[in-house]
Amino acid sequence: MNTLYRPELLYSRGRFIEDGELLVGESGQFLEIPEEMPLASTRIVDMPGKALLPGFVNVHSHSFQRLIRGKSESRIVSGKDFWSWRGTMYHAASQLGPQDVYDVARMAFLEMALAGTTTVGEFHYLHNASDGHPYDDPNLLSKQVIAAAQSVGIRIVLLRTAYLRSGHNLPRDPGQIRFFESTNAFLKNIGALVQDHSADSSEVRFGVAPHSIRAVGLPDLKEIAAWARDNNLPLHMHASEQVAENTACLGEYGLTPVALLNRERLLGPDITAVHAIHLSSDEIAMLASANSTICSCPTTERNLGDGIFAADHVMAAGIRVALGSDSQAQIDPLEDARELDYHLRLLQQERAILDQVGGKTLAMTLFECATVQGTSALALPGGGFTPRSFADFFTIDLNDLSVAGHSAENLLPMIVFSLNRSAIRDVVVNGRYVLRDQKHVCQDEIVSRYKEVQRKVWPTERVNL
Ligand SMILES: [Zn+2]
Repeated sequence: MNTLYRPELLYSRGRFIEDGELLVGESGQFLEIPEEMPLASTRIVDMPGKALLPGFVNVHSHSFQRLIRGKSESRIVSGKDFWSWRGTMYHAASQLGPQDVYDVARMAFLEMALAGTTTVGEFHYLHNASDGHPYDDPNLLSKQVIAAAQSVGIRIVLLRTAYLRSGHNLPRDPGQIRFFESTNAFLKNIGALVQDHSADSSEVRFGVAPHSIRAVGLPDLKEIAAWARDNNLPLHMHASEQVAENTACLGEYGLTPVALLNRERLLGPDITAVHAIHLSSDEIAMLASANSTICSCPTTERNLGDGIFAADHVMAAGIRVALGSDSQAQIDPLEDARELDYHLRLLQQERAILDQVGGKTLAMTLFECATVQGTSALALPGGGFTPRSFADFFTIDLNDLSVAGHSAENLLPMIVFSLNRSAIRDVVVNGRYVLRDQKHVCQDEIVSRYKEVQRKVWPTERVNL
């Protein structure tokens, strides 16, 4: 039976409309609303006091890093920069068995669902057992993460990650032994995973993620990119997150990462460059002419001191910008969205820098980064409420304190800049409720299992001064 949703306000291309309706078929996709609604075969869901919006798409997540939240905010423990922060992250990665990987991923995905996220792109590089050897099934941990997303109820695009080396002319870092595979093993393993799932699955999709030019040298990168293109899968890669990463790439190849990808004709519409902070204007032009996407992760980038993403120059060049929660320092897609503009405000001492880019309001631009731009970066069909798109959406309580006093005209900027998570009431993925009236059916169990893993990984609390 089809379901007709009738919220008090419905998001529609950057604003809200009254009396809007959405029809969802049994297949879990949006349907065109016919002129004559067959009411006998349609379930009506009235939603007074609620606004309905498309679900968020989190394009870049490392779910296991949820474990280091609050554990790396000290120079004594994690040093002063990104490179020393990795020590804390490697410690967490070294401690996890397959069940733990599942339990931690469920926690991260639950938190995403409660924030209105309906799809996650999981950039997954934890492959081996803790001694560095592959499991009997080398895809065991990938499967644990997929199972975690299915258990929570959100869609996953597993961006299975190739991590082949510690860096140019560097010995293997023992903190990375769970990440390493050979190129052949990587391609064999991702090939097996892809074969296990239907290419048009509404729950599980795949992408190919050479970790970075630091972790995947050029000959291997070319082979992996060619495989991804042969298999029609999107390509995601960290690029220019840190100045030192650019310097190392210059030392090895004489070019910075994006310029190298451009010279090697590896850029294209199927590529998403993650972070892309330290770009020259030439590199921005290269990404624009290749019609590539950038995934920005502002809550993580400010937490790690990476730098400020030049969203103004990037968007002016016409590059699509998607968003990711990355290290899970915060899981709040709207915080990521608003920071695209807020960081520039602090830098330029002006306001609303991204307003009217492409003729759109600031709120619409930022909201699209968190929704349809993510759909496109993960090569998912449609996006928003277009017919045959996955029926993914969330509702908010229009009486929540954070949006009280709204009108249909100013509700979107209120949501983008001020929405409190307490306002998010229902989350629906593929036409199925994941969250109903703020309650996930497995929430208590997921949180209590997560707390056990947390105690195992950090058995004695060190005081972070
Ligand atoms: Zn990342």
